[in-house]
Amino acid sequence: MKVVYPHMGHMWICVKAMLEYLDVEVVVPPPSSKKTLLLGVKHAPEFACMPLKLNLGNFMEAAEMGADTIVMAGGCGPCRFGYYAHVEHAILRDLGYRYQLVVLEPPQKHIGELLGKIKHITGHQSWRRVINGIRFGYHKAEAVDQLEKMSHYCRPRETRAGATDRALQSALREIIAVDRPEKLPAALNNAMGMMNAVSLDKQRPVLRIGLVGEIYTLLEPFSNLDIERKLGGMGVEVDRSIYLSEWINEHLFMGLKKNKGGSKLAKQKAIKYLGHSVGGHGLETVGSTVLYAERGYDGVIQLLPFTCMPEIVAQSILPRVSTELGIPVMTLIVDEQSGEAGLVTRLEAFVDLLARRKQTGKVLA
Ligand code: SF4
Repeated sequence: MKVVYPHMGHMWICVKAMLEYLDVEVVVPPPSSKKTLLLGVKHAPEFACMPLKLNLGNFMEAAEMGADTIVMAGGCGPCRFGYYAHVEHAILRDLGYRYQLVVLEPPQKHIGELLGKIKHITGHQSWRRVINGIRFGYHKAEAVDQLEKMSHYCRPRETRAGATDRALQSALREIIAVDRPEKLPAALNNAMGMMNAVSLDKQRPVLRIGLVGEIYTLLEPFSNLDIERKLGGMGVEVDRSIYLSEWINEHLFMGLKKNKGGSKLAKQKAIKYLGHSVGGHGLETVGSTVLYAERGYDGVIQLLPFTCMPEIVAQSILPRVSTELGIPVMTLIVDEQSGEAGLVTRLEAFVDLLARRKQTGKVLA
């Protein structure tokens, strides 16, 4: 069995570590690119959201590298994600690919089925080793998140352009190279040392923007046209409402690890504006915007793929949150037509507005 799973930011690092620890052969598709997107766009339904198209492209590229089994998360609720794995599988089958599909449904509703599928993928491994493997992958996700957060702080303050990105790549290589759980703490220490070595101007005034929205678009730089790097280059420190390890803790470990993430808090904060789940992360988008306003952020950017239903609901509510709490909010919708120049123009205009608003201490019309 040669397993492939979709790219979503740095998720591949922790899933690869977990599966290889369990002696499962992994095929990591090339990073998502124009070619990946073109493959997906050519064969996916036009109205499907961008994650489906990129997943499809990932799987087609991985098939050329020998992958024969797709492992994907499932889902339930109002968002279409719940049946995307099956739609992608059917399209691939029609195109002549012979993939086996394993869909891991959320543990809250299908714990027995989930355990059976994990056993199917990992074969002869004991449950003890499976748990250690899952823990190893999770700790890698935590390490990656920590390094990404450091990069968010460093980028707008670096004294040499590009130093943060270079340090982050070296730091991530340290984490990727770890093949045993016991080696991870030392590697993380080294990696953090690399990030701490980036020369910074800590007195430089920076703006702070919270990024909220659909999880795939938030985590996958190709789909959001590398927005974190672009904003960092414009002197903006960003924070994301979703980090991978927090998502794993809340959705796969059912919140077993305490003090992690703001999803529960974000949902509480959303109640005044939206009283029930609308699928995906729509509720968290509204609540996180409230949280960023309360924490004194200068602005919020909502990211979503074209046709994303939960985020369209959230988008319709955000103007009220923005007006009542006095925080500027901009929505960016991405799809295969999105262009770099258009995005940069909009970001520059938004950042300019936030900077003038901060300087004058006034709300600009
Ligand atoms: S949350 Fe949005 S982008 Fe993600 S699968 Fe659902 S509809 Fe598509």
